[in-house]
Amino acid sequence: MYFFKTPEIIKWYYPSLVWNGPRDEKSIFLTFDDGPVAGVTGNILQTLAKFNVKATFFCVGENIDRNPGLFRQVFQEGHMIGNHTFHHLNGWQHTGEDYIQDIRKCAAVIEGNGFSPGIKLFRPPYGKIRKSAIQRIIKEYQIIMWDVLTYDFSGLSREKLLRQSKRHTTGGSIIVFHDSLKTRSNTEFLISQFIDHFISLDYNFCTLDRLFLLN
Ligand SMILES: [Zn+2]
Repeated sequence: MYFFKTPEIIKWYYPSLVWNGPRDEKSIFLTFDDGPVAGVTGNILQTLAKFNVKATFFCVGENIDRNPGLFRQVFQEGHMIGNHTFHHLNGWQHTGEDYIQDIRKCAAVIEGNGFSPGIKLFRPPYGKIRKSAIQRIIKEYQIIMWDVLTYDFSGLSREKLLRQSKRHTTGGSIIVFHDSLKTRSNTEFLISQFIDHFISLDYNFCTLDRLFLLN
């Protein structure tokens, strides 16, 4: 079963999480999870620069530790950074203090490398998070989920991924791509086609902090 579009019932069940931006604006929010990764993130940055598009990168702390120069390049090129835990933890398996501490560890490496956001964003790995964790994290972070999952990590054909991702995207959509070796060829294909398509329809691409700066 593939859920390219997040079902409304799930959004309704978790109203304190952010699932999409305003529907009445032609703004789209691209997000890239799991980087920064050598040999992958640089190409994504190049494509985004080619189209002059800004995005949000939900980074894994241990990958920032491995690739600090690449990490700094991401925000120096004008992209937004979000926290995606230090060890990419599953929030259904890690339900206590260890989960919170892993987020703090990721925050420390983000800030230690020179990124101090006015708005703090967090995305739970796998989209899995307990309500008890939400209550704690939300005091400090905007918890960002998504509206459209591209399934760039799946074995589906990339033409199908592109078609489905385009079909489900509307104004305000938050789209998930991945910044990883496993998804590299799918992601690179998808982003240039996807961006090209929505630019031709007069959409803007914005970083997620903009959602909260407007409010
Ligand atoms: Zn992830």
